[in-house]
Amino acid sequence: MENVMEKLTALCKRRGFVFPSSDIYGGINACWDYGPMGVRLKNNIKTAWMNSMTRLREDVVPLDAAILMHPRVWEASGHVGAFTDPLVDCRHCKARYRADEMGFDPAAPDAQCPKCGMKGTFTEPRMFNLMFKTFMGPVEDAASVVYLRPETAQGIYVNFDNVRVSMRKKLPFGIAQIGKAFRNEITPGNFIFRTREFEQMEMQFFIKPGENEKWFEYWKEQRMQWLLGLGVRPESLRFHDHGPGELAHYARAATDIQFHFGFGSDPWHELEGIHDRGGYDLGRHQEFSGKKLEYFDDETKEHYLPHIIETSSGCDRTLLMTLVDGYREEEIKGEKRVFLGLHPRIAPITAAVFPLVKKDGMPEIAQRICAELKQRFEVFYDEGGSIGRRYARMDEVGTPFGITVDGQTLLDESVTIRMRDTLAQERCAADKLGERLAELIEQA
Ligand code: ATP
Repeated sequence: MENVMEKLTALCKRRGFVFPSSDIYGGINACWDYGPMGVRLKNNIKTAWMNSMTRLREDVVPLDAAILMHPRVWEASGHVGAFTDPLVDCRHCKARYRADEMGFDPAAPDAQCPKCGMKGTFTEPRMFNLMFKTFMGPVEDAASVVYLRPETAQGIYVNFDNVRVSMRKKLPFGIAQIGKAFRNEITPGNFIFRTREFEQMEMQFFIKPGENEKWFEYWKEQRMQWLLGLGVRPESLRFHDHGPGELAHYARAATDIQFHFGFGSDPWHELEGIHDRGGYDLGRHQEFSGKKLEYFDDETKEHYLPHIIETSSGCDRTLLMTLVDGYREEEIKGEKRVFLGLHPRIAPITAAVFPLVKKDGMPEIAQRICAELKQRFEVFYDEGGSIGRRYARMDEVGTPFGITVDGQTLLDESVTIRMRDTLAQERCAADKLGERLAELIEQA
C-alpha cells in the first residue's frame, strides 16, 4: 500500500494533479501545489461539500472569514496556551519525533531511535506551539504578533452573532466555511495527508443545550452519507469514537471518520472529525471579548449560550481519499491499464471528445460537440496520438466518459460513448449527448 502512495504521487505529478511546491528549487518540505487537474478535482469536492451543507438545506449558511484574526481570538480558543505537541530529538542523528506518537517512552534508558538505532539518545520533550506567527504592520514587536489561523472554526464562532442577526436565523442553525489553515506540523508527510498549509471544510452547528446527543448522532450520519455519496467504498470508511483519554480539552464527545489510507503500521487514519464542543467556544469568546453571545429563545423565553456540534474535515485529505480509493490497475489482454475510478460528479474532466482520425471532417464535428458540451460540463478535446493512448491519458485522470467521432458519425450523426470503468461502449445521437451524460452522472 505504501506503493500506492508512491504511485499516486508520481501519477499526480505526471498528470497535473499535485506538484511539489517550489519544485525547481528542490521543493519545500510538506508543501504542495495543485495543478490543473488537482484544482478541478478540489473545486468539485468543495462545491459538493458546500452544496450539501448549504444549498440543499435551509439551516446552514456559508461564511468566508479572514485568515488573520485578532490575536485575542487564539487566547480565547486555547491555541496560544495549549496548541502544543511534545517534541524530542535524537542527540546522535538529530531525527525529530513527536513524543506522543512514538509508541514507547523516549525517556526510558533503552529507548531506541528508529532512524539510527542508538539507545538512550533522546532529549527531554519540549513543548512546541504549532501556530505560524507573523507581524502586522512595520514594527516587529510583541504587540504586533498575529497568527496564521490553525483552523477555520474560530472565524465562525466570532461571527455567530453577525450571521444570526443578518440572516434572521433561529436555533438550531449552522455556519459552513471552506478555507486555508496553517499548522507548523512536526511530523508532516504521506504526500498531502499532513501538510503545513491545508484547506479545511468546517461546519459549526449551534444548538440548544441538551440537544447535543441528538445532533451529534445526526451529523455523524450526514457526514458518512456524504462520503459514501462520493462513491467511496463503504468498507474503506469507519467511525472511531474517542475514549475519555483521547478527547480534546473542549470536547464532550468526538468521533473521527477514518479512511483506510493504507500507509503506516495502522492503515486507518482520520479523515474528518465530528465533535460535541458544548458551550466552550461561545463561552470563551464571550469572556475574552466582553460581548454577550447569548441567544434569546422566542418560544421558551429563555436566554442561553448555544452549544456547538462541529464537523471538521480536511479538503486535501478528502481529495487524497478519492485518489487512494479510486486508483485501479488492471490487465487487459496482457496490457496494463491504470485508471482513477473517480465519481463522475467530482472527476476533473467529465468527458473527453476525440475525432477517431484527423481527417474527413471528424475534428470539426468533434470540436463542435466539445463546444456544446462545455456549456454544461468540463470537457477536454484531444486529437493527438492513437485513440488508445488518448483513452489511456484520460483514464489516468479519471475521466468517466470518452466520446469518439468516427466513420459512423459521418453517416448518422451518432457518436460512441466509452465508459471508463467497464470499457462498455454505447452509441448516442450527437444532439442527445448532453442529456445522456447528465443521466449517466445521475445514475453513477
Ligand atoms: P491529525 O491528528 O491527523 O493531524 P487533527 O486531529 O489535528 O488531525 P483536527 O484539528 O480535528 O485534526 O482538524 C480537522 C481536519 O482537518 C482533520 O480531520 C484533517 O482532515 C484536517 N487536517 C488537520 N491537520 C491537517 C494537516 N496538517 N494537513 C492536512 N489536513 C489536516
